[in-house]
Amino acid sequence: MIVCLRGFILSMSEKYGLIDDGLVVFDDSTGLIEDVKRWSERGSVRCDLVEGDEHSVVMPGLINTHTHAPMLLLQGLGAGLTGFDWLRRIWCVEGLLRPEHIYVSAKASILLMLENGITTFADHYFYEEEVVRAVEELGVRGVLAKSVVEYSEHAPKHTIEESVSFAINFNKVAGGRVRTMIGVHAMYSCSTETLLKAVEAAEKYGVRIHMHFSESLHELEYVKSKYGVTPASLARRLGILKTKPLLAHATYLNDEDIKTLSEHEVYVTYSPFTIMSWGQGIARVSELIDEGVTVSLATDGPVTDGDLSLFKQMKLAIAAQSSRYQTPIKLRPKEVLEMVTKKAAKSLGIDDLVGVLEPGKKADIVVLKPPKTRVVGLYDDPYTTIVYNLGDESVNDVYVDGKKIISGKAPLRVDAEGLHKQLTSIRGRLLSEAIAACGK
Ligand SMILES: [Zn+2]
Repeated sequence: MIVCLRGFILSMSEKYGLIDDGLVVFDDSTGLIEDVKRWSERGSVRCDLVEGDEHSVVMPGLINTHTHAPMLLLQGLGAGLTGFDWLRRIWCVEGLLRPEHIYVSAKASILLMLENGITTFADHYFYEEEVVRAVEELGVRGVLAKSVVEYSEHAPKHTIEESVSFAINFNKVAGGRVRTMIGVHAMYSCSTETLLKAVEAAEKYGVRIHMHFSESLHELEYVKSKYGVTPASLARRLGILKTKPLLAHATYLNDEDIKTLSEHEVYVTYSPFTIMSWGQGIARVSELIDEGVTVSLATDGPVTDGDLSLFKQMKLAIAAQSSRYQTPIKLRPKEVLEMVTKKAAKSLGIDDLVGVLEPGKKADIVVLKPPKTRVVGLYDDPYTTIVYNLGDESVNDVYVDGKKIISGKAPLRVDAEGLHKQLTSIRGRLLSEAIAACGK
């Protein structure tokens, strides 16, 4: 069936730009976009179904480049702690997790992300096979990595060999909607032997590495005292920077570190809420961008940021960077929209598939139905209007691979009420176990 979505088209594509009353045409059987054009030119198009209207906004599905979806179950734990103190608390509870927890919690997170217009997420966690199951069932797109954490007595123990084997065996499953990376938690939580094995495998199999990087002052001090260099220098020394890594946070960088990163093809994923609410600094994102580093936005795990909202991260990224550099011009609304669409797709190596609305790309599309009072400026300055004035509540319909997943805000593939009951019940049992094992 040929589906035509009508609305204000925010294509994020160089060629198609903005169309104030247009349509996106796609084939729901191939999942591919066939055309993007003005509504007035629809005569040449066959539409079996027309959805949306002149008050809708049609844009690419949002892409969350760093999260830990199964952590929804742990929402709120560790509040008031930071750095290694936070990690010790979380790792202790994570030691109690079993595959059933991961599957149910990942489903709940994915549902929340879809409701917020997120059609692709990059995940990094334990028992990641369960996240694959959830992705398969809910119809979303995922770039998944099985996380290796060594320096914790409690956290589930996956070896680097298991993480590599996951990346090889699950790539392109779920009709190609799953892509994979090697997951090492961080340089402070894994041995150099493991990090070197990750680099070797990345080079041998052409798989990328997703890891936390220079996220906190604790990490900076730890790496400096153990290795005598900054995290950026250590990553270069170990060969990590040569593997086109996806680096989460990059909060603490000196001038030399920024130069080092800019000399390599690295992808930084920035989660302003997590790091600022942790009491850590504001990353030098604007300078990284100026030096040519691709930076995307992410929610991080829902334990620290339970709403999984990229609309919120866009606003916070602008506010944080404006505050850091004492000027509002460092990060513009159009740029943060690119950081959750086409730059995010590039960061995950899936820009051949998604990130912009143009013929030949996959129909991962969000239809917003914003309150009219919030989009008074839409035709004057659409990027500012959407980033500053809209939020997750504007998301009405969501398509992934040409299939409708959310319709009129209602999920089509999962019993949301049943899932919530299941989640609440397993969380209750898990927290009782956690009090016994880890204390209050
Ligand atoms: Zn993280």
